[in-house]
This record gives sequence, structure tokens and C-alpha cells, in this order.
Amino acid sequence: MSTDNCLFCKILEGEIPAELIYESDTAVAFRDINPQAPIHALVIPRKHISTINDIDVDDEAIIGSLYSAARHIAAEEGIADEGYRAVMNCNEGAGQSVFHIHLHVLGGRRLDWPPG
Ligand code: AMP
Repeated sequence: MSTDNCLFCKILEGEIPAELIYESDTAVAFRDINPQAPIHALVIPRKHISTINDIDVDDEAIIGSLYSAARHIAAEEGIADEGYRAVMNCNEGAGQSVFHIHLHVLGGRRLDWPPG
């Protein structure tokens, strides 16, 4: 999918509203519109990358910054110590529905393993 019709690129451009909770030079986070836990944020890179399979070696710093964002959000939301999950789905078989990579940051309740 091109950046022109990418939902998360539109959020980055301010064309679609979202509750932003974190911003850096490389990453932005906002609350998930359909939360699966009391805390459910999505961390996305400013650069459009469709899936994990499309991550280039030059993107490694960007991917690292997504986890720095997750750490920051967990601390801000008060779930760092009790535990949280930071997970990225890749392609439809794993549940990816928006093809701009995003780290789900979930917490505030018991999270079982393995996921469904
Ligand atoms: P995934 O299924 O892993 O691709 O995750 C996509 C996530 O984006 C889902 O958890 C959706 O609830 C969430 N989502 C879809 N549209 C929006 C939106 N406009 N604002 C915030 N979150 C959204």
C-alpha cells in the first residue's frame, strides 16, 4: 500500500484525528481506537514501512526508537513494573490490518501467553 492511502500516514499528517501520547523525531504514539486492554497504545515510525518484512537494515535505529517509545509510555502510564506487552503483527495471518508497522503496547491487565 502506498503512503497516499495509508491510515497511519494520514494520522501522522493530521488528516485523521488521534489521541497522541508520544512524539519523537522518528516515532509517534497514540491510543488504539479499539483498546484490547486498559492501556493500549500504538507506536508507529514516521517513515512508512508496510510490514516487518519491509524493514531495511538502514531502519534499525528507527525500530529501536519504537521500543524507546514503548518504554517511555509504559513508565508514563504506570505499567512498567507490573508488566506490559509490546508486540507487532506481520501480515494478515498474524492479525495485521493496517499496513504501516506499529508496536502495540498493552497493559493494565493480566496478559496471558500464548496469545490466540
Ligand atoms: P493490527 O491489527 O495489528 O494491524 O493493528 C491495527 C490497530 O489499529 C488495531 O488495534 C485497530 O484498533 C487500530 N486502529 C485502526 N484505526 C485506528 C484509528 N483511526 N486510530 C487509532 N487506532 C486505530
